[in-house]
Amino acid sequence: MSATAHPRPSSHSRQEPSCFSTRQIHHGQGSRAGAADSTATPAVGVVPPVHLAAAYEFTSLRDAREAFAQREPGFTYARTGSPTVALLEQRLAALEGGTGAVATASGQAAIALTLLALAGRSGQSADGLPHPGVPAGHVVASSRIYGGTADLLNDSLAEAGITVTWADPHAPDEWERAVDGRTRALLVESIGNPHGDLPDLAALAGLARRGGIPLVVDNTLATPYLFRPGEHGADFVVHSTTKYLTGNGTALGGAVVDTGRFRPEADPARWPQFTAGLPRFGGVPLTQRYGDGAVLHLIRAKYLHDLGPCAAPWNAQQTLEGIETLDVRMDRHCRVAEELARRLQDHPGVARVRHPSLPQDPNAAVAARDFPRGTGAVLSFELAAGPSEVERFIDSLQLIKLAANIGDSRTMVAHPASMTHCRLSEALREAGAITEQTIRLSVGREDVEDLWRDLRQAFDRAGLTETQNHHLTTQDGAAEALKEVSR
Ligand SMILES: *Cc1c(COP(=O)(O)O)cnc(C)c1O
Repeated sequence: MSATAHPRPSSHSRQEPSCFSTRQIHHGQGSRAGAADSTATPAVGVVPPVHLAAAYEFTSLRDAREAFAQREPGFTYARTGSPTVALLEQRLAALEGGTGAVATASGQAAIALTLLALAGRSGQSADGLPHPGVPAGHVVASSRIYGGTADLLNDSLAEAGITVTWADPHAPDEWERAVDGRTRALLVESIGNPHGDLPDLAALAGLARRGGIPLVVDNTLATPYLFRPGEHGADFVVHSTTKYLTGNGTALGGAVVDTGRFRPEADPARWPQFTAGLPRFGGVPLTQRYGDGAVLHLIRAKYLHDLGPCAAPWNAQQTLEGIETLDVRMDRHCRVAEELARRLQDHPGVARVRHPSLPQDPNAAVAARDFPRGTGAVLSFELAAGPSEVERFIDSLQLIKLAANIGDSRTMVAHPASMTHCRLSEALREAGAITEQTIRLSVGREDVEDLWRDLRQAFDRAGLTETQNHHLTTQDGAAEALKEVSR
């Protein structure tokens, strides 16, 4: 199964729609991928069928041989592709404005496969093969990043020899200094988890271009409805579709989208895994056979095939259903989060709120320039309290669930230092501004008044009301008391 050789819409299929809200519902469905059964089954459902088969039948040994040798496109075994998963890949690629996508079992898998393909050991030798004595590549990654990505780079990818340097997403000069001769990827989140950091992507993309290094952007918190990294210079976009794309916390999944900018053939010596004739692919360079699908082909036909973290058809179907309502859901997520951020900021039990929608947030300028629809629904705040109040506050929440997920319909609270970011080193936790007082909210789609009532009663139970708050200075306390009265 080749990345560029998904079944194409047949010539008599209708034209692909061009507007976001229409594409999220229809894109790719006119193709054979969505209606592969239509010749066998006269009834064609308006919702595409879920193809659960693990294997795909061939009519002749010749056809099987050609498909397995990847000389001809076709589904062979569902680990490397199946029609329902292919429809999800086409739809995600269309929404991101990319040339293609590979769906995976989770967001972690999407990031891992992408970095292995770009920065693995085989990219560092002249013949594009992994030699044990040859060191692997290097990645520069944002120090304000999802904890699971930090674990992946600090531990499992380090095991594969890939080294990492962490850099501040707001300081492009740090990234410039971190790049060395083995650097093969820059990795950043378009909206950082948990603080909503918005990097200056144009600056990072400029650095990536000058250095000939691909920029990989994790667009999980934004989704292509709020932000399309490809329009800001990203070469690859990775997703945890588990979150907002699926939208109700029921199906794990991930994807990598190629935006079509990265051209390994422009510097063949630096990218032998795509430009050398590898025995595995019949000695023909991937760039020669698949053109701009070379990277996705390596991800699919080598890493997904060998390691196996493939998207499941049922999950792909649930994600496709979720994507149909992406625009209306994201609008509501953003509005509820913006209102809660404003109210939290005025509460005396809160020392600081981080969400780019707040006028004084350090990310407000980038938000105004690049995020006209909103900056998502993950926010963090620092309780003006000690550890025991933090514990009491979190344990007092009733409607808001204590759980390590984002992008669900339900609002969730997390304590990053104890949960998502608990394995980080002290230094990385400091660089990521994660303290014992940091609370993360993944704001869902409930009524804001119910959420606010829940937060207020938790503040009260933790003793964090204006009169009982001993952690503010008298001056601050007076100012906060005035604010409280005027409300
Ligand atoms: C959740 C998450 C991931 C990992 O995705 P999984 O689907 O949980 O494997 C990666 N990046 C970000 C920003 C996330 O929030």
